[in-house]
Amino acid sequence: KTFKDLGIVDTLVEACHSLGYKNPTPIQAQSIPLALQNRDLIGLAETGSGKTAAFVLPILQALLEKPSPFFGLILAPTRELAAQIGQSVDALGASISVRCAVIVGGLDMVPQAIALSKKPHIVVATPGRLLDHLEKTKGFKLSNTKYLVIDEADRLLDMDFGPILDKLLKFLPRERRTFLFSATMSSKVESLQRASLRDPLRVSI
Ligand code: AMP
Repeated sequence: KTFKDLGIVDTLVEACHSLGYKNPTPIQAQSIPLALQNRDLIGLAETGSGKTAAFVLPILQALLEKPSPFFGLILAPTRELAAQIGQSVDALGASISVRCAVIVGGLDMVPQAIALSKKPHIVVATPGRLLDHLEKTKGFKLSNTKYLVIDEADRLLDMDFGPILDKLLKFLPRERRTFLFSATMSSKVESLQRASLRDPLRVSI
């Protein structure tokens, strides 16, 4: 199958090709059609599977139809992973002028607050620093966010981000789509699933 067969629009298919993605990886082939049908998803997939584009492409395609500030929020366990996801969003979204901010711990909050004040379409964040901004940065809200991604859920929970994730969920609207990706399943991941997803479909490779 091709990206077009999965339902990806031409501009984004071209973005994939320009990055050297000729055909979808198995996780992309399974996730993308379901994500485009407006379903919550649980993806069992490891780094290296192409899972980033599996969640970024459907969000960008929905954004194309009706762009709005803070349209998508992607949570990741580490600064490095958040930075990589941010690069993928920038690369896949360049031709459609997507604006993305990466909000991670260990860096000065002021430039991040300025980046958030510009109302990017997509925020990629580590949980603790995002919560700091929600509590301290004036005018920053996630009350109109349409898509939430919880990436590497197992690692997030192993790093004890569970209580922070619970707090973050309270800032997000119930009316949203949620994609949760994890390399492994555990009772902790399952309880996060129950708290964050609605009638999800499972895909695994
Ligand atoms: P990820 O699992 O999302 O970290 O992706 C792993 C690597 O695969 C990254 O370097 C991506 O740029 C690359 N990649 C993602 N999707 C594709 C694809 N459909 N074809 C070729 N490479 C891809």
